[in-house]
Amino acid sequence: MTARTFTGARVVDPASGTDKVANVTVEGGVVTEVGGAVHGERVDADGLVLAPGLVDLHTHLREPGRDDAETVASGTAAAAAGGFTAVCAMANTDPVCDHAGVVEQVLRLARDAGHADVFPVGAVTKGLAGDDLAEIGAMAAVGVRCFSDDGHPVRSARVMRRALAYARTWDAVIANHAEEASLTEDAQLNEGEVAGLLGLAGWPREAEEVMVARDLILAAGLGARLHVPHVSTRGTVDLVRAAKARGVRVTAEVTPHHLSLTDEAATGYDPVFKVNPPLRTADDVAAVRAGLADGTIDAVATDHAPHAPEQKEQEWGQAPCGMLGLETALAVTLTDLVDTGTVGLARALDALSTAPARSRDLAGHGGPIVAGAPATLVLFDPAATWTVDPAASRSRSRNTPFAGRRLRGRVVHTLLRGRFTFRDGQVV
Ligand SMILES: [Zn+2]
Repeated sequence: MTARTFTGARVVDPASGTDKVANVTVEGGVVTEVGGAVHGERVDADGLVLAPGLVDLHTHLREPGRDDAETVASGTAAAAAGGFTAVCAMANTDPVCDHAGVVEQVLRLARDAGHADVFPVGAVTKGLAGDDLAEIGAMAAVGVRCFSDDGHPVRSARVMRRALAYARTWDAVIANHAEEASLTEDAQLNEGEVAGLLGLAGWPREAEEVMVARDLILAAGLGARLHVPHVSTRGTVDLVRAAKARGVRVTAEVTPHHLSLTDEAATGYDPVFKVNPPLRTADDVAAVRAGLADGTIDAVATDHAPHAPEQKEQEWGQAPCGMLGLETALAVTLTDLVDTGTVGLARALDALSTAPARSRDLAGHGGPIVAGAPATLVLFDPAATWTVDPAASRSRSRNTPFAGRRLRGRVVHTLLRGRFTFRDGQVV
């Protein structure tokens, strides 16, 4: 590979604390120089931000099993278009990723597609059934760093405790979908005024908070690593903040939709706004934003959950939960968090890249952007505005809650170890 220099970009690298305009030269898959002269091909990056490639802790790629909704290839193409260089693929496929065979299948599909690194998440329990532990050791042996039954909670405290203890052997992370199911039977939308008005069964905040509190107690007792996915309530932010202050080994994520939308979006019964956990209230949005700003919540993670139109476009009660997220996460974060002054650009990029990479020990992702480090990068135009068009998505599905929204911040190039995965607006 010949040398290539990106000239005039604003280099924002949370891993090294860098924020400066500089040329960045890439050769042989690595960064060879920051702040030097032009070598080889010159790529004008004037006015662009150059940052570590984005890292998603929570992606549903649907393959194997539901390739009508998404495949590893289509999902990672959407990832590259969104500036992501790494995604953690959730285990609720068919068959479930509860043994090393499925892990290896997903890794192979990802390598063949070449759009992004995929880090499969293993199931905690066999078949996501909540009873017997999945083959955690065998999956850890082929590189799995996180286990989750996401979509389903690990209901039993005994099973959760055993899983945390077992994962600790590999210093791996358990991410438990926090939902106390006895409180969410038939639940459709956040319990409150809007659900009442719409006549939809309420989904109480306590369903999330009870489970998070339990898991924090269990993780603390064992010194095990816990990750709290898709934080949606003020109470959960408070629980995680207090646990971190006590030294519990916990990390947390929040989705772009929980940072930017409320249950008011559901007033037209459009099932595109049906998601688990549900959209909450303005007070919860304010709390998760504050939690992201102060580091209580480590990462922005998409919970990219594609559903084929014939599945998603049913009546609210029948429609499955979930929203697309990979292609809009950066722009939603820039528009609703950076533009509003909630977080600075460096913290936003930390939450989208460096912090999630660190929380899963994903070497080679999340920066730093220094000589010798992998050239795994995103370049985006922070000033460009665009309108979200579901038909233009690289995903096989169309269920974005941001359809028609005007957003600021557009990905121009994505590079994985020096190779373009997305160039001038096109998936490579
Ligand atoms: Zn979940």
